[in-house]
Amino acid sequence: MKLSKMHLKTLREVPAEAEIPSHILLLRTGMIRKLVSGVYGFMPMGWRSVRKIEEIIRQEMDAAGGEEIHMSAIQPAELWQESGRWEAYGPELWRIKDRNGRDFCLGPTHEEVFTDLIRNDVSSYRQLPVLLYQIQTKYRDEARPRFGLMRSREFIMKDLYSFDADEAGLDISYKAMYDAYDKIFTRCGLTFRPVEADTGAIGGSNSHEFTALSEVGESEIAYCEKCSMAATVERAECVDAKAQDDVDMLPLEEVNTPGTKTIEEVADFLHMDAKETMKALLFVTYDAEGKEDGYVAAFVRGDRDANMIKLVNALGIAEHQIEFADEEKMSAATGCVGGFTGPVGLHDCKIVVDSELPGLKNLCAGACKENYHLKNVNYGRDYKGDIVADIKLLKAGDPCPVCGAPIKHARGIEVGQVFKLGTKYSESMHATYLDENQKEHPLLMGCYGIGVTRTLAAVVEQNHDDNGIIWPMAIAPYHVIVTLVKDNDPVQKEMAEKIYDELEKAGVEVLLDDRKERPGVKFKDADLLGIPVRITVGKLASEGKVEYKLRRDADKEEITAEEAVSRAV
Ligand code: ATP
Ligand code: MG
Ligand code: MG
Ligand code: MG
Repeated sequence: MKLSKMHLKTLREVPAEAEIPSHILLLRTGMIRKLVSGVYGFMPMGWRSVRKIEEIIRQEMDAAGGEEIHMSAIQPAELWQESGRWEAYGPELWRIKDRNGRDFCLGPTHEEVFTDLIRNDVSSYRQLPVLLYQIQTKYRDEARPRFGLMRSREFIMKDLYSFDADEAGLDISYKAMYDAYDKIFTRCGLTFRPVEADTGAIGGSNSHEFTALSEVGESEIAYCEKCSMAATVERAECVDAKAQDDVDMLPLEEVNTPGTKTIEEVADFLHMDAKETMKALLFVTYDAEGKEDGYVAAFVRGDRDANMIKLVNALGIAEHQIEFADEEKMSAATGCVGGFTGPVGLHDCKIVVDSELPGLKNLCAGACKENYHLKNVNYGRDYKGDIVADIKLLKAGDPCPVCGAPIKHARGIEVGQVFKLGTKYSESMHATYLDENQKEHPLLMGCYGIGVTRTLAAVVEQNHDDNGIIWPMAIAPYHVIVTLVKDNDPVQKEMAEKIYDELEKAGVEVLLDDRKERPGVKFKDADLLGIPVRITVGKLASEGKVEYKLRRDADKEEITAEEAVSRAV
C-alpha cells in the first residue's frame, strides 16, 4: 500500500479527553475515530490490526473445537425475561423498541440467544458437546465509558458458549478454552496472567480472568511468584475463609425487624441482580420517626466506581450524597455504624459494631444473616460489641494463602474471561437433553469472552514509547515501511519502488511512504504508526544502500537494498 493513496490522517495534537497512552496513540495514529462517547470507528490501519487479532482468535477457537457462527446483535426482550436478566441487568443493557412498541436490546452478551438456539437444536446426548462462537459487536451502555477502546459502549467481542452433558464434559471444555486463551494472548504479544475470578455465590475455581498487566488497568490482582496462586483482589478477599466464618458467628438476634428487606428486595430497588447487590451494600438511614433520611453505601467487592454509578442512577441522587465507607464517616457523619466499611481495594474491610456511639437510633444494618438487612436497629440496644471481624484482602507482602511466600500486587486490564455457568441458563430457560436411558437433564454451560478491541488497546498499552506504538509483528497493520526520503529524487524513488514491489511479491505486508512530505514528517509518522521494520531510502541510494531499522531498537544499519529485502522477507 502506498501512503499517498491511503486514507490516513495522523494527529500532532493529543486529544484532550485521552488520558492513557493507548487511547492517545490510537487516536493520534488515526487508527480509530470517535463518533460519540464510547463509540469508535476503525480506519484502515486500525481495522487491519483488529482483523489480525480476530484471525488469531479464530484459529485457536477452531483448533480447540469451536465452530464459528454469527447471531444478531438485536435480541428480543422475551429471552431476557425468561432468564430473569431483563430486570436484573440494569441500565447497562441497551434497550430499544421497534415501531410496534415491542422491546428489544442490543446484546451486551449472548447467553440467552445461544441457550435458545441450543434448546431448539439439541435434544440428545449424542449431539454433545457443542462449542459455538461468534466474533461480533456488543453493546453496553457503560456508566463511564473511558480510555477509548478499553471501556467503550460499542465493542467487538469473541464469545463462545459450550454445552456439555455433565460436569466432566464441562471441565474438558473449560480447560480447552483456558488453554486456547493462553495461546491467543501469547500470540498477540501480551504480558498477562490468568487469575482466579470472583464468581459470587457460585464459588470455587469456576472462573478465570485473563489480565494483561498494566498500570492503567482497572483490575487489581494479587499473585504469588513462588506458586501459581493468582486471583483478583475480590477473589483474594474470599480466600480468608476463617474471617468470613467469624462474621457468621456474630451473636445477633433478629430484633426489631419490621420491614426487614431481603437482598432480593434491595436488588429490585437498585435494578441490580442479587449477586451485584451483595457487592454494593446499601444502608438506608432512618430518622427517629422511621422515615428514610439518607443512604450510606459500602462496597466490599467489585468495581467501586461502577457500583457507585449504579447506586446514583438507581436512587436518582447526586454523587456527593453517597457516603463512602470509611469508618469515621460511617460513624460520625452519617450515624450509621453497621456493616462493612473501608473502600474496596487494597484496604482491609472491617465489620464494625460500636455500641459507644450515642444517638444511633432506628438505623438500617446488615443482619448478618444471608439475604437480610435489619431496619430500625438501635445500636447499643440491639447490637453489642466492638470490631467483630476483620476481613483481610491480600495485601502486598502478606503471606500467600497457598505457600506462604510474600504476595505481590499488580494492576491489569481484563482482556478475557472464562466462566463455568453450570445450569444457570439451561434451568431457567429449559435447555435439556436426553441421556442413553431417555432421561432428561439440563445442559451444562460455559461462556468464554475476549474483548477483541480491548485487546488491541492492551497491546498498545504494553508496546509503545514516547514516539508512538511499537507493534508486535503478529498484529502490526503492516510489517515493513519503506520511507522514501526525497520523492523528487529519481534514484531514491526508483530504489524505494523496487524494494516495495519485491517485498509485495514476496507476500510481505509493506507500506511505501511516497507522500510529498518533509522527511521529518515521514520519520515521525513511521515511529508513531509503529511499523516493526523501517527501510529508509535516502542519500545512500546512490551507493545502492539503505538504512535498516527495527522500531523496537535504537540502532540503524546501512545495508544494501538486496540485503534489506532478504532480511525483511
Ligand atoms: P469489565 O469488568 O471490564 O467491565 P466485564 O467483566 O464486564 O468487563 P465480560 O462480561 O467478562 O466483561 O466480557 C468479556 C470481555 O469483553 C471482557 O473480558 C473484556 O475484554 C471485554 N469487555 C467488556 N466490557 C467492555 C467494554 N465496555 N469495552 C470493551 N471491551 C469490553
Ligand atoms: Mg463490565
Ligand atoms: Mg470484569
Ligand atoms: Mg468479565
